[in-house]
Amino acid sequence: MKGNKIGIFGGTFNPIHYGHLRAAEEAREVIGLREVIFIPSGNPPLKEEDLAPAEHRYEMTRLSIETNPLFHISDIECRRPEKSYTVETLASLKESHPEREFYLILGIDSFLDIPSWYQPERLTELTNFVIVSRPGFRFSILSGRIAVDADILSGLDSGDIKIYKIPHGSGREVFLLNITPLDISATAIRGLVRSGMSIKYLLPELVESYIISNRLYQLKSER
Ligand code: ATP
Ligand code: MG
Repeated sequence: MKGNKIGIFGGTFNPIHYGHLRAAEEAREVIGLREVIFIPSGNPPLKEEDLAPAEHRYEMTRLSIETNPLFHISDIECRRPEKSYTVETLASLKESHPEREFYLILGIDSFLDIPSWYQPERLTELTNFVIVSRPGFRFSILSGRIAVDADILSGLDSGDIKIYKIPHGSGREVFLLNITPLDISATAIRGLVRSGMSIKYLLPELVESYIISNRLYQLKSER
């Protein structure tokens, strides 16, 4: 089996959509990952508005990747009743598979959130990063937060540069990757469901039917 590079793709996946699936596919192909493991988050202690139960989010993610042998799913976060932290998830994956090199795949918006995560400084000891483009967020916003020249960031934003690998002293790799822009968000999908509008072609059909048959994301009065 080729290589030990494993993509890790975490999210609430509330619900999973083609923006997620395409990001994982392009990161896998361009970086040469052996596989990508999707890790739906658990239920946070304070229930967020509109967050479907972890079992549903897990099942929708499972359904959407079941035909792709290079995509896998882990319940490491959603089987736990307590809140999971990315750094702990990675530490436990690394412990079970010390020979693997992990590549955490995230959109620019999630990368911007890292400083607010639990023990962010430990992350670089555990994983490499693949930061993927996302409509509405420019790479230039990372200026000052990562050691990359402004002209590289604007080259990525203009599309002149497809991928840039940040030289990193630790030996770990940080990639900035331009992917096919798909302006899809789970927030917008939930809004469409609430308004009774179509969500077709934004996510896999199996996920669409799952949402409909389980009456997810509808107004409380209509559930
Ligand atoms: P929500 O609107 O509920 O926040 P979301 O669409 O942002 O949902 P998340 O589960 O929050 O989805 O995102 C999981 C990961 O996928 C994050 O790293 C996010 O940046 C990335 N991501 C989500 N949608 C896209 C997209 N359309 N293009 C690129 N990356 C995306
Ligand atoms: Mg999000």
